[in-house]
Amino acid sequence: MTLPAGATIGIVGGGQLGRMLGMAAAQLGYRTIVLEPQADCPAAATCGRHIQAAYDDKAALDELACACDVVTYEFENVPVDAARSLEGKVAIYPPPDALDAAQDRLVEKDFLNAAGLTTAPYRAVGSDDELAAALEVFGGNGVLKTRRLGYDGKGQRVFRDAGTADTAGVFAEMGGVPLILEGFVAFEREISVIAARGQDGALSAYDPVENVHREGILRSSTVPAHISSATAIAAREAAFAILTALNYVGVIGVEFFVLGDGSLIVNEIAPRVHNSGHWTEAACHVSQFEQHIRAVAGLPLGAATRHSDCEMENLIGDEVLAAPRLLDDPNLVLHLYGKAEARPGRKMGHFTRLISGRE
Ligand code: AMP
Repeated sequence: MTLPAGATIGIVGGGQLGRMLGMAAAQLGYRTIVLEPQADCPAAATCGRHIQAAYDDKAALDELACACDVVTYEFENVPVDAARSLEGKVAIYPPPDALDAAQDRLVEKDFLNAAGLTTAPYRAVGSDDELAAALEVFGGNGVLKTRRLGYDGKGQRVFRDAGTADTAGVFAEMGGVPLILEGFVAFEREISVIAARGQDGALSAYDPVENVHREGILRSSTVPAHISSATAIAAREAAFAILTALNYVGVIGVEFFVLGDGSLIVNEIAPRVHNSGHWTEAACHVSQFEQHIRAVAGLPLGAATRHSDCEMENLIGDEVLAAPRLLDDPNLVLHLYGKAEARPGRKMGHFTRLISGRE
């Protein structure tokens, strides 16, 4: 169903991604309501209304369902039960099954392998002994992660040439929660693909982007990525396979490791607009945010073509203080999230520098 102008889109989650979705929705003539527990959240400034409540607050979810024509979300840790409780009351995209697949790293890897894609080897870990056994299988090398609620490298521990002695007490140190050990991937570079699927099943993908992380946080995204066209095509096909397997509607971010021979390993999927797609607002005619709104509103997807090469950098913590100086660069598009407090590690904004193609 195509939403008419003036219809209302609900967004669960009120961070910067919700803020940018609110802007894109407004541009296409839609109203927005954000559901977010935090007062004065980044999305409240761009969405017409803010329902301040927990993501699983039943009354608030009912209010959102009644007031909206379609509901979407801007982060993957929306409780699946809350998302499912909206089904039948209001259209909800992407499907809650996609949340299910993305929230638990073990379920995610099982899903990806069942869809015919390659991931790092992995083992579920529920104790120090299981960790020792899994490390032995992976030759003492691996990345231990919490299965749930990890982001920006939080809840992770790297093992290099570790012996079983290194595993004593680790399960408790990681919080005593279910873990996954992934084999260590000696990748050459990291890329991601931002792709979309419309309600009519149409598929679209932006060019793969090369990402640099520091301390688990995305620092920069560069387009084009330094990969062969065969690798670019394979990444795009993998993203399309995931979208199709999930009967997905909306934008998805798919992160990959690229090995020395150009082959790909899927690291993770994010069923939402993605930090590594922020460059699309500056270097493409249709941004990832507009693309997502188009998809959930039942509009035709836009062309994901890029008019410029570019580099996007995140402004983290007090790096945001440099923002006024950045504005001197005529080829730079700055985006700040309106967060009052520049805490270390907090994403405060980003900028995209256009490298070619812009007059
Ligand atoms: P993640 O939260 O899973 O995206 O991990 C954050 C970052 O840690 C990734 O972007 C990689 O740079 C690194 N990393 C994660 N998993 C692995 C792995 N299995 N092997 C090597 N590096 C990894």
